[in-house]
Amino acid sequence: MPLDAEEGVTLYKEAPLEELMFVADTLRQVHNPGRAAGWMIDRNVNITNICFSQCSFCNFCRKKNSPDAYITTIQQYIAKIDELFRLGGDQLLLQGGMNPDLGLDFYTDLFRKLKELYPSLKLHALGPPEIVFLSEKEKKSYHEILSALTGAGLDSLPGAGAEILSDRVRKIVSPAKATGTEWLEVMRTAHKMNLPTSATMMYGHIETVEERIEHLISLRDLQSEKEKDHYGFITFIPWPFQDKGTQLREKQGVRSGYNTPDYIRLIAISRIILNNIRNIQTSLLTVGKETAILSLHAGANDVGSVMIEENVVSAAGSVNRFNAEELQSVIREAGFVPVRRNQKYEPV
Ligand code: SF4
Repeated sequence: MPLDAEEGVTLYKEAPLEELMFVADTLRQVHNPGRAAGWMIDRNVNITNICFSQCSFCNFCRKKNSPDAYITTIQQYIAKIDELFRLGGDQLLLQGGMNPDLGLDFYTDLFRKLKELYPSLKLHALGPPEIVFLSEKEKKSYHEILSALTGAGLDSLPGAGAEILSDRVRKIVSPAKATGTEWLEVMRTAHKMNLPTSATMMYGHIETVEERIEHLISLRDLQSEKEKDHYGFITFIPWPFQDKGTQLREKQGVRSGYNTPDYIRLIAISRIILNNIRNIQTSLLTVGKETAILSLHAGANDVGSVMIEENVVSAAGSVNRFNAEELQSVIREAGFVPVRRNQKYEPV
């Protein structure tokens, strides 16, 4: 029987960490038997840093008239993709702000152009808030927006913008962005279309343990609706709020609640609650090597990506950087075998 919300909260608050880790590690072996731990090479490119949303935890977004506002040009994409291919990767994680001037045609033209220039390139791009924004702007359904984007070359949809799905939290930290219900509805639509997706959580700000558990259960419930042979959520990736320079910290005095034992607890609880999502990814980029190693013994089976050029969490204080060799050595140090994978978590 899957855990209900009350059981999840009790476990989170009361279970000894070593016992949670033991159970989660056992479950990891059920979902991903053996000693393999995944990693990949991809490159983050930000489409634009102009964003009307102005989430209070975000240190990356700019207003349109800001002197350092930008929209990435095709020439810049070409330089970045050439470097990505040189380093052995083939996927772009394309994210950015919700720029009110950019409509559906901008994104479909961009995706088509990139695929025309680089037919083998994979596009892991945008996220539910952008789909909601484009749907409102273009007066089209989520299905129509996603169909247009996949038709133009979108390969998979990141779980960006989930933060904490509770609307109490979202009203405070990201009031202009998609609601929790809208986020889930976009993902429901993507799952029906068999578009691979990921699920995320940005935690450690103003949310309660109850809201973290609610978030996990919402993901699990949505995943249980998908067709058996559809991708659904391929992975779950939680990462802690990075507070440096954010409005949430500067104006509201909210500090990141991150600490290693709590992160490991969250990874373990995620593995236990998310009984229908196969992969749990530790966020090496935000938590660093030692914590990532512990995570691999607490239910996580993946350390994420080399992530050439990451600008969003690093703008708020994350300083970790790993190349392909270092990333694999983290996995080996944890006692696992590094297996390079693609976005669908298939070995490559
Ligand atoms: S987190 Fe994303 S949606 Fe929110 S302000 Fe930053 S760029 Fe915009």
